[in-house]
Amino acid sequence: MMPNTQACPNPAASDEDIAAMVMGKDGLRVLFQPQVDLLTGRIVSAEALARWQHPRLGLVMPAEFIPAVNRLGLDRAFFERVCVRVIDALLTLRRAGIAVPVAINAPATTLSDQRSVEFLLDRIYAAELPASLVRVELTEDQPIRELEVLRASLLRLEEAGCEVSLDDFGTGYASLKLLSAIPLSEVKIDQYFVTRMRRSAVAFEVLRTAAELATRLGWRVVAEGVENVADIPALRAAGCRYGQGFALGRPMPLDALMVRLRTQRDGGEPLAAPASYASSWLEAFGSGAKDAESAYPARHGAIL
Ligand code: C2E
Ligand code: MG
Ligand code: MG
Repeated sequence: MMPNTQACPNPAASDEDIAAMVMGKDGLRVLFQPQVDLLTGRIVSAEALARWQHPRLGLVMPAEFIPAVNRLGLDRAFFERVCVRVIDALLTLRRAGIAVPVAINAPATTLSDQRSVEFLLDRIYAAELPASLVRVELTEDQPIRELEVLRASLLRLEEAGCEVSLDDFGTGYASLKLLSAIPLSEVKIDQYFVTRMRRSAVAFEVLRTAAELATRLGWRVVAEGVENVADIPALRAAGCRYGQGFALGRPMPLDALMVRLRTQRDGGEPLAAPASYASSWLEAFGSGAKDAESAYPARHGAIL
């Protein structure tokens, strides 16, 4: 979660630097983090995550510059730049014979702007890509001021074939009203709960109940911030069919993602596990959900 009103906390990055980056002069990089089916271990999609390679400061993370991008009113221009990168990535994947949806993050203000939506759809049509390969993730770092406007934009995307995902569910501004008003295909349960479920019965129950609600509404459920493969059985038991996290794949350049996807396509291992996790990896995918139920959580008064 990122507040959108604060100044860029990196004092060395000026507003001019940020504007230059957004307007295309310098340093925007986009990495891709795989999303994995926790039943099969297969990569099912990827999320585009922005980085800023600053000429003096080195790599600047989005939490450090996205709030300033929003504050400067450059969010739509930034969104458009990321869209272009994602469409390019999808075209590269298509040339390799791979079709995997890629998600683009955007706050409500950006997605409420019809021009953002039309820009994205124009790019998709121009590239002759199926709209189903592009997802938008509504980041929850801003309160929703005009729900009807946001709803109309998201409906336009949905009608065109793009899926909408709700990011950081459980720690952001999403209300039950929002959930029932906007068209969604997916919710991503914030890593706050995933990280805490091992030691907190309350966190586990909140996660499970959120997953159940989403499943009842027909949405895919994704656990964010999966840092330990040993948690996978419990996540499955809690109703999270999909996961994203360092244990499943860090944000990586497109080339690296393609290596993983090619291996998968050619019938290799479902996923090349990071070496440190290799031994527990297959067990985590192989073990039954029942085991997980007994393993998690300690059912006594742990607090979040
Ligand atoms: P997000 O969309 O919730 O993305 C997930 C964040 O969690 C990413 O941080 C990712 O690197 C990190 N992450 C993934 N797995 C793990 C894990 O196992 N453990 C931990 N501790 N972290 C994990 P990142 O890339 O720094 O992005 C932070 C946030 O910045 C994103 O959160 C998203 O809200 C925003 N963001 C990133 N790229 C963009 C963009 O292109 N546009 C906009 N508007 N926001 C973006
Ligand atoms: Mg996201
Ligand atoms: Mg998130």
